[in-house]
Amino acid sequence: MKQIVFATANPHKLQEVNDIAKSAGIEFILPGEGFNPVENGSTFAQNSLIKAKEAYRVSKRMCLADDTGLCVEALNGAPGLYSARYAGTQQEKITKLLDELEGVENRNAKFVCCMTLLGDDGNLLYQTTGVCHGSIIKEAKGIHGFGYDPIFKVAGMDCTMAQMSETEKNMISHRANALGDVINFLGSL
Ligand code: IMP
Repeated sequence: MKQIVFATANPHKLQEVNDIAKSAGIEFILPGEGFNPVENGSTFAQNSLIKAKEAYRVSKRMCLADDTGLCVEALNGAPGLYSARYAGTQQEKITKLLDELEGVENRNAKFVCCMTLLGDDGNLLYQTTGVCHGSIIKEAKGIHGFGYDPIFKVAGMDCTMAQMSETEKNMISHRANALGDVINFLGSL
């Protein structure tokens, strides 16, 4: 198994990327103590580079970071970069988003996930973006996944991301798309 540091403090994300990458012989591990990125970039790409550099600073090993957000068409792409800071608890974030969309017909949305890979020397090796299209439903459904999953209906499917099993989510998600690119890139080295 090749070990790569994954720049997160979110155990759910770590579990997801490990489930996706297991068959490629990759194991992601946490950065370790002191990981505290200041996400002050103005794009997903900038923030994922900031997280990757911070993970490298504390681990001095090959690092992968993601920066993810939910972009809602009728809200001009919000909460987007601010998805994590949109409101207090995750339940409050969901309530706020549903309130903002009260009476709005266009419910189109997408999850965007930008991943940045740094090599053993800390240099930038690869960057890619994965997207998952869908729409925001009117009330939360499902118990799996995390974050905004219970209100995100995946395009072409009749369920929210939180109504899918982890295996199903990992076949179509924004993170799975981006990580697929990273795995292909690593295979080409
Ligand atoms: P970050 O990339 O960890 O900063 O995530 C930003 C925000 O998007 C957080 O509030 C997460 O809960 C949310 N988020 C990230 N990935 C997902 C996902 O796969 N499903 C639902 N919400 C997500």
